[in-house]
This record gives sequence, C-alpha cells and structure tokens, in this order.
Amino acid sequence: MRATLCKLPRSSSTSSWRSGGLVSLPLVGRNPCACDLRAVSDIIRLLPDHVANQIAAGEVVQRPASVVKELLENSVDAGATQVTLVVKDAGRTLVQVTDDGKGMSPTDARLSFERHATSKIRQADDLSAILTKGFRGEALASIAAIAQVELRTRQPEQELGTRVLIEGSRVKVQEPIAGPVGTTIAVRSLFYNTPARRQFLKSDGVELKHVLDEFHRVALAHPEIGFRLVSNEHEEFNLMPGNPGPGTGTGLRQRIVGLFGRKYDERLVPVEESTEIVRVTGFVGKPEFAKRSRGEQYFFVNRRFIRSNYLEHALRKAYDELVARENFPSWFLFIDLDPAQIDINIHPTKTEIKFRDDRVVYAIVHAAVRRALGRFNIVPSLDFEPEPALIAASNAGRDAGVPTWRPQDLGAFTAPPRPSPEGWQKLFDMGMASPVEEVEVPEPVRQPTILPSRAFDEQVGERSLFQLHGTYIVAQTRSGVLVVDQQRAHERILYERNLKLLEQGAGTSQAELFPRHVELNAVDHALVVGILPELRSMGFDLELFGGRTVQVNGMPAEVMDDDPARLLEQLLEQVKAYGSALRNERHHVLARSMARSMAIRPGRALAETEMRDLIDRLFACEVPMRTPGGKPVIVTYTLDELNERFER
Ligand code: ADP
Ligand code: MG
Repeated sequence: MRATLCKLPRSSSTSSWRSGGLVSLPLVGRNPCACDLRAVSDIIRLLPDHVANQIAAGEVVQRPASVVKELLENSVDAGATQVTLVVKDAGRTLVQVTDDGKGMSPTDARLSFERHATSKIRQADDLSAILTKGFRGEALASIAAIAQVELRTRQPEQELGTRVLIEGSRVKVQEPIAGPVGTTIAVRSLFYNTPARRQFLKSDGVELKHVLDEFHRVALAHPEIGFRLVSNEHEEFNLMPGNPGPGTGTGLRQRIVGLFGRKYDERLVPVEESTEIVRVTGFVGKPEFAKRSRGEQYFFVNRRFIRSNYLEHALRKAYDELVARENFPSWFLFIDLDPAQIDINIHPTKTEIKFRDDRVVYAIVHAAVRRALGRFNIVPSLDFEPEPALIAASNAGRDAGVPTWRPQDLGAFTAPPRPSPEGWQKLFDMGMASPVEEVEVPEPVRQPTILPSRAFDEQVGERSLFQLHGTYIVAQTRSGVLVVDQQRAHERILYERNLKLLEQGAGTSQAELFPRHVELNAVDHALVVGILPELRSMGFDLELFGGRTVQVNGMPAEVMDDDPARLLEQLLEQVKAYGSALRNERHHVLARSMARSMAIRPGRALAETEMRDLIDRLFACEVPMRTPGGKPVIVTYTLDELNERFER
C-alpha cells in the first residue's frame, strides 16, 4: 500500500529526519547527531520532538476551538458529505469529529501525526495553488502533543480500518479495526500535560462560544456538507446538506437560516457579481436589521473564512448612510478568485489574507454589495463609478496569462440610472410593491436643486399634505401613506448640499446687518482656524478678529437660527463628537455636523409651501431614505397594511 502523505523539508533546527524518513515510531527521539557532536562546553541542544511539537502546538492550538477548526477542516478536505462534531465541557474533556470522507491508509494514519506531514502539497510551488484548508501538516502533530488522541479511519477500498492511539506525541496503540468508511478523531483531555495552558482557558461558556464560532464558519463555507453539533449530549445543530456551491443558491440561504434562525430568511439580500478576476456571491443583511453588536460578518475567500479590515471597510462604505455608525450590518460573502492571486500563508491560524490586487478586489466587493442593495431598492441610487486610474493601475504590471481586468468588464457594474426627483412617487410605489427590476427607472436628472413641484401636485394633490405634531409631514401616495420626519429630511438635504458646496467651494452667505463678534475658547478657536476654508465654502463669512474672537459677517443662506454664536458652538460640538475623522472623511464630517446644527427642529410649524419645498428637495437627494447617520427619514404605510389593521 502506498502512503499518500509526504513530508515537507524542514528548515527548523528541531527537525529530525529519520532513516527511511517517515515511518519510524515512536515519534519521540533525539537527533543522534546532536548528542554525538556535543562538546562539554556546548549548551545548545536539539529539543526532543514531543517538546518541539508542544511549542509548535502553542501556535496552532490555543483552545478547544482551535482543535475543532482543524478537525472540521480536515474532514472537509477529505471530501466528506456528512460531518459530526461532538464536544464535552466546551471541548475541554472531548472534541470528536466523525466524517464519511476518504479515510487514511494504515501508514498514513500514523504518519498524519508527524510534523509537516501533509498529503495536500508536495513542493513550495504548490503553495500558490492551494484550495484545501490545510497545507501545513502541523495540526494533528500539534494536537497529539498536548492531548490524548484516538484516530479511527478506513478507506472505502479497504476492508479493515486502522486505530491509532497517541498521547503527548507518543504512539500507544496502532491496530487494525473494523468500522465505517471515513475518519473519527477524538481528542481527549486537551492540555493534560501542559497545566499552565489548561489554566489559561476561560469559562465553559466562553470556550463554547469559540467552538460555535468555528463550527459556524466551516458550516457556512460548505452548505453542501451536512453538519451536526452535539454538545454535552445535547444536539445543538443538525444541518442538512444543501445545494452545492456558495453563492446565492438555496443552499447558503438554508444554511444561514439553519444556523441563525428562521427570521433571517427575510433579512437577506443576494449578492452576485462576476468579473474575470473575482466572483463575489452570497448575502448581505438589510440595513434595518443592523445590530448594536458586531454580529454575523463573514468573508470567505476561496471558501476559507478570513478576517480583513480592508474588506470590512469596503462593506461599511457600501452601507454608508444606510446604517448608523454604532450599528453593524451582517454579511455572508464569498469571494472566489485564482489562488495565485492571494497569499494565505502569512498567519499560522490562517484567517488573514493578502490579495495581489487588493484595490480591485475592494472596488468589486464594494460595488457588488452596493448594487445588491440598490437592486432591492434599499439604496435608491447607486454611486459606483470606478476610478479609471484604479483600473489602469490594476492592468499595468500584470503578468501575461493572468486574467486581466479590462474596462469593458465594467459593464457589469454600470449602475442603473439614478431615479429622478420627479420620479420619487414611483420610487415609493416600486419599493412597496415590487422589486425595482420590473419597473422602468426614469432618466437621471443630475444635481437638481429646487424642483418644480408640478409632478408632486399632480400626483398628490394640494390638500393631502399636512404636518403632524409639528414634527412629521404626512403625504398620501398612490399606494399608501408616507410620513417624513421634518428634521431628518432637512438634515439629509443640508448634508448633500453642504457636501456639494465643500467640493465646489462656493457657498452663498447672507450678510449680517451688523457683523457680530463671537468669543471662543482656545480649543474651539483652534478648531475654527483649522476648518476656516471649509466653513467659508459652506457659507460662513468669517474673519479672525484677533485674540480668540471671530467676526461673523454673514451666515449660510439656509440658516434659520439667527444666533451665530449658538450655531457655531453647536457646529463645533458636532465636529468634536464625530471626532478624529480620516482625512478623506473630513468633508463628510463637516457636512454632517453642519447639517445637524442647521436643521429645523421638531415643534416648528411649517407652512404648506415649506412642507412642499422640503419634500421636493428631499426627493432630489441621492439618498432620501436615510439621514447621513443612517437613521430613517421616511416611513411608509401601504394601503394593504392599513387594510390589514382594519381587518378588512
Ligand atoms: P494538513 O491538513 O495541513 O495537511 P493535518 O495535520 O491537519 O495537516 O493533517 C495531516 C494529514 O492527515 C492530512 O494532510 C491528511 O492527509 C490526513 N488527514 C487528516 N484528517 C483527515 C481526515 N479526516 N480524513 C482523511 N485524511 C485526513
Ligand atoms: Mg489540517
């Protein structure tokens, strides 16, 4: 029988090649050369393998959840269709994984516990084409160094299987056994021989949470495989195998629902975007279900769970203005690309990754999500216009033969036209009734300012607009009722206006009859000096008067508050509250702060024309639905909803 495992060359000084290389057991033993060559004064010794393994284990096995991860991934790599995980006491006492995968030969069974023994790569070049989860050949060796491990395995073509019992890297038993095809690995008494590590473990609750996290990640990455989890004799999950492949198929949806509950079904928005370089599929959560705690945020690159601040940023950007800063949207995204385009070998636990073309991946992920949210009418407008420079940069310097990103590929990302303000009513009816694809979106109107309200009049009629409690504006639409928060609407309008002004640098100000002087404290004064050009762009006509006094010659035309000192103070408070903005977010912070301090407050009575004007301008905005901070601006009730309440 031929062993399929091979041993990678080792560079570490603790390596100890044995004759014939691979099968001499027990695994303990000192390199004979080390003893022979030792002179009296020499103090450096090679560590015995079991000690070296224990040290290496420190990297791979931090807690029971690490064992869970490694074993589950091995089962996936072995082509299993059904995997069962059993844990006792959060994995402290037992972690056991059973699969129906391809099993191991008797030789491989023993060899699998050798360090750097792996069947998954044979040479350094293979590293760039990794599609399996494992490849270091370190996990089983590390686990066996710090636990009591029992392996039972049988290959489909063999009648008998193999049982190996190994403790602290020492093989206790190896014998043929009868048993099902596949592999069961039971890891008992983790850290039994490293009490310090054992004491380091947290409470069962915390450790179980980590175990669940790993289980979730692997189960999500592979909806086509059935997964069961039994904890302390209680079945926590029994997830049926679904349609193969990641993406938006029913498999993944079912898997998400299976893991997180029925209610997730309605929260998911499918994402599906393919270019020559990368494919982005999966689901993102609707913004209104974003939570206070960082919840379900999963990136899988080539089906491997990864963490990436960079991609996370792309996602946050895609949700910009839809979700308040303190809330976290959820996502389950699969990014698939040529393995040669990534480097996964930069971290021992392999949850970090480097993309060769990270800017392109960023842009595509961002666009894919933005588009998905747009398609489901969550973002009424789409803003993806890829920078030509970015595309050019990503094309330049590419090796021949590597898929390239060509401008024509962008076809897939051409955003549908922006809904025009005149079409706002349609936008609503679409949003409430049917998905946006079925409706023709009106031609875009670029940068409208104040709209003629003809369209609005025709559709709504004079009298169907009124103010409620000095706070909300209520309007009738074709399919129901629309309620607009006046303060938030104004905030949205001002925010977009301010942003434009900041970009164009041409705010108009309304001159004060008499220039006024505002005395500032040192901090505020420094702040004003720092943002003076921007303040002027937004319509503040300010002069530094000497000392800490600022002379106000004029205020932005929009301002309703006639006390410049109060307005300035509020604005500075806001700027401080949003704080240390990144450089490129500076405009956003200023525009938002200014919008907040200038917006009309609840309780202010509005005349009919003012309400009409406010609503018209709101719908001329790019994102009328949400405040810059992600709070809802508009709430709707359909006739159906009303009818239902009336039990009609
Ligand atoms: P790696 O996964 O990095 O190769 P491991 O130490 O996790 O290293 O596993 C060593 C080897 O043992 C694997 O390469 C594989 O050949 C074999 N192996 C481990 N688990 C299983 C399993 N459940 N079914 C079949 N083979 C397995
Ligand atoms: Mg492995």
